[in-house]
Amino acid sequence: MKIAVLPGDGIGPEIVAQAVRVLERLKADGLDIEMEQAPIGGAGYDAYGDPLPDSTLKLAREADAVLLGAVGGPKYDTLDRPLRPERGLLRIRKELNLFGNLRPAILYPELAGASTLKPEVVSGLDIMIVRELTGDIYFGQPRGIRTNDKGEREGFNTMLYSESEIRRIGHVAFRIAQKRNKKLCSVDKANVLECTEFWKEVMTDIAKEYPDVELSHMYVDNAAMQLVRAPKQFDVIVTGNIFGDILSDEASMLTGSIGMLPSASLDENNKGLYEPCHGSAPDIAGKNIANPLATILSAAMMLRYTFNRETEAQRIETAVKKVLAQGYRTADIFEAGTEKVSTVGMGDAVLAAM
Ligand code: NAD
Repeated sequence: MKIAVLPGDGIGPEIVAQAVRVLERLKADGLDIEMEQAPIGGAGYDAYGDPLPDSTLKLAREADAVLLGAVGGPKYDTLDRPLRPERGLLRIRKELNLFGNLRPAILYPELAGASTLKPEVVSGLDIMIVRELTGDIYFGQPRGIRTNDKGEREGFNTMLYSESEIRRIGHVAFRIAQKRNKKLCSVDKANVLECTEFWKEVMTDIAKEYPDVELSHMYVDNAAMQLVRAPKQFDVIVTGNIFGDILSDEASMLTGSIGMLPSASLDENNKGLYEPCHGSAPDIAGKNIANPLATILSAAMMLRYTFNRETEAQRIETAVKKVLAQGYRTADIFEAGTEKVSTVGMGDAVLAAM
């Protein structure tokens, strides 16, 4: 199992170090893991003048999976756009053809107080949002800002999905639903947009291959509402790039704690890039107070989705549940009556629980 480790910027190196310790532990227990580090984002720019240096891309291509921290920071905000850290991230996703973005929103009962929603609405929440990541209105051509026949300026984009693009993300979503509670909700705006009417038609067709999964359809405006009204009705949600962008952020905030949320981006062969949902948090970088659990849980997703190692994935997830039950909290999820620990302290606790 070759893993490219790209810590990135800000809190990236601190949180990735804890996930690496967890993987080292599995290695010590016999798992055949090889890890190699390389710079990305601002760190790539500092070292090679490029947010995605060739050597980093080569390492990522040769690896089976990529573990990434986060990129970006105020120091780089004035660089030309192509040199900015975020561009390195967009490029690596494109270069590796990572079209399937998986974002779980899980609310551990111990953290129910962190959500802005009532505990009974969200406690025990466990949703997986599958977002298509390389198509839709974000990439469709033509696009631009132009002057129309009447001499007025107008902006325009194209919402576009080919059948093959819908099918490949559909299969990812159905297979994930099979591993979970076998309920898949496809989100569209088929009442208004032809592109998503087609999406719905193709999803309905794919469903014939998965008779064990119950497929439902929901308009995106209703889905946005249902996510805050009764989020536990969902198991797996599949949707296009723009709706998924918005709904996955909404769903992640149901949990109230950004430091807890992992993510995966997969290609057709289940090669994946795994990273926390949050950014590089420059405001707390270098202070040993960032929450490493999202990154540690991203490593668990890597074992499950790229390496098919369910037992080891669960070993990590169970250890995380245990440390929360034991009352250990980093500053971002701290509440009275719990024990505050540092980034390294949380890593220690997870290792002990493993
Ligand atoms: P952010 O996610 O970095 O931080 C938002 C808030 O959440 C901050 O107060 C931060 O301290 C806190 N936070 C984030 N992760 C945390 C953790 N693990 N533990 C404790 N607290 C945590 O978002 P931002 O402030 O909007 O962006 C900061 C930089 O990160 C920017 O340069 C942005 O472009 C970049 N960014 C990168 C990614 C990525 O690498 N995938 C994603 C989003 C933002």
